[in-house]
Amino acid sequence: LAEGTARDVRNPADHRDLVGTVVEATSEHVSAALSHAVAAAPIWQATPVDARADCLARAADLLEAQMHTLMGLIVREAGKSLPNAVAEIREAIDFLRYYSTQIREEFSNDTHRPLGPVVCISPWNFPLAIFMGQVAAALAAGNTVLAKPAEQTPLIAAQAVRILREAGVPAGAVQLLPGDGETVGAALVADHRTRAVMFTGSTEVARLINKQLSQRLDSEGRPIPLIAETGGQNAMIVDSSALAEQVVADVLQSAFDSAGQRCSALRVLCLQDDVAERTLEMLTGAMKELAIGNPDRLSADFGPVIDVEAKRGIDTHVATMREKGRKVTQMPMADSCGA
Ligand code: NAD
Repeated sequence: LAEGTARDVRNPADHRDLVGTVVEATSEHVSAALSHAVAAAPIWQATPVDARADCLARAADLLEAQMHTLMGLIVREAGKSLPNAVAEIREAIDFLRYYSTQIREEFSNDTHRPLGPVVCISPWNFPLAIFMGQVAAALAAGNTVLAKPAEQTPLIAAQAVRILREAGVPAGAVQLLPGDGETVGAALVADHRTRAVMFTGSTEVARLINKQLSQRLDSEGRPIPLIAETGGQNAMIVDSSALAEQVVADVLQSAFDSAGQRCSALRVLCLQDDVAERTLEMLTGAMKELAIGNPDRLSADFGPVIDVEAKRGIDTHVATMREKGRKVTQMPMADSCGA
């Protein structure tokens, strides 16, 4: 098959830093990968449960052994802070060990019939943990996997797939299809050979996928399952009984860690009138102490947002709030946070 388009992957904290290159999948690759996934399905689903569990457990050990290399990649490709990178790897390890243990205890190939090729579509904000969590769950249950990572983080995903294969998962059982959501993602979802979709990302895309899948049934007349985890608005309500120091620490952590790019990040803070002024004063004071910078420095509390589009979204929101006459508090950026 002809190679797809090669694209540079750059560090969101410093665009001069070329992290690697990704070759994106073409529609021929998508189709060929689905054929491989169909062909590999009987072998992987007939693999004894314990052998599948062993593969996942070995992958967890490999992640642990490669902790330092993976941290470097996560920091450079996803702009995560070092503590966030560690948390990300630990979560991926947890998923692998959890599913490995679950199937050993509760699964039998006779009672738990796999679905077949499962498409896993993941976001960039947890490029290893969510990616691995979806893929591990589908593999544990005996399905073959076609993994479509986010456009921004294909290199971490490639390393995750290498680790799974090194741990013994056959190449046909886990395949990586990097590329655009609207082309590669949509083509995977639309193909009649896809028997389920696991998706984490925006509500808007989840709706599109849901609509697409609702238009067909599998060969036995059953609906195609979609497991979707999406975004939302997270609020914290603080009354006068809360310890202000603790509130401030929790607000900063929840709202700004990972540069606020978590589905669980705090978006709306409601303060009881009696304590509002004092808490806001403390909050603004604490914000001034935060260091934003390249997260490869331990001195940086927070790193960059993922790309120019994300920054534009935030700038537009800030401008809209100002236009509406709302008070906006913004910390100045260090010169090093330019390009
Ligand atoms: P997104 O929906 O744009 O992208 C997510 C994935 O879907 C990417 O891999 C993308 O390529 C793919 N995609 C895009 N269009 C597609 C299409 N038409 N068909 C198939 N695939 C397509 O989301 P995003 O903004 O990049 O990611 C952040 C979102 O993820 C936020 O809304 C966040 O709240 C959410 N999120 C939720 C959780 C959770 O557990 N609930 C966890 C992390 C992130």
